[in-house]
Amino acid sequence: MTIQKELLQLLDVLNFAAEKHRNQFRKDGFTPYINHPIQVANLLVQNGEDDVALLSAALLHDTIEDTETSEEEIRNHFGDEVLSLVLEVTDNKNLPSDMRKQQQIKCAPHASRRAKALKLADKICNVRDIAICPPANWSLDRRHQYLNWSEKVVAGLRGTNTALELLFDHYLSHGRDLLDEERIINSQ
Ligand code: ZN
Repeated sequence: MTIQKELLQLLDVLNFAAEKHRNQFRKDGFTPYINHPIQVANLLVQNGEDDVALLSAALLHDTIEDTETSEEEIRNHFGDEVLSLVLEVTDNKNLPSDMRKQQQIKCAPHASRRAKALKLADKICNVRDIAICPPANWSLDRRHQYLNWSEKVVAGLRGTNTALELLFDHYLSHGRDLLDEERIINSQ
């Protein structure tokens, strides 16, 4: 694919994802949802991942899970390679939330290299958000549990992209520090 074709595909994907997420906000209640997949793709590029199928999947990674998008739509628009990456990072919504979380820990080591990189970037963004601008109704304990769970998922993703793994470690420890500070302030 020429550079121009690659850029056009990414813009096409971004347009598609923005349409699909148009009525959604992040858990903070005010950030447009599409900013999240954009940040995930951005992190991948900044850390050396420049494969167009991977970046397309990053922009689409929550469409099947969180919008009405079907597998066929993604296959028809963007092909099997992008679809299979999106499916690798899509939770089975038929499972209860606890089991989905367990599944993520179990499946992480078996994902393809590109899906692992995508999951790493996704977890970095989520850990950063939960620590810095959390959902209004999440307790400190719930945020702590989220960080602990993310650490377990990421344990199965290591050996994929050192820069992303170090970045995750940084945000995890920063997030834990912030929660500890909040706990101290709350107890005063
Ligand atoms: Zn995500």
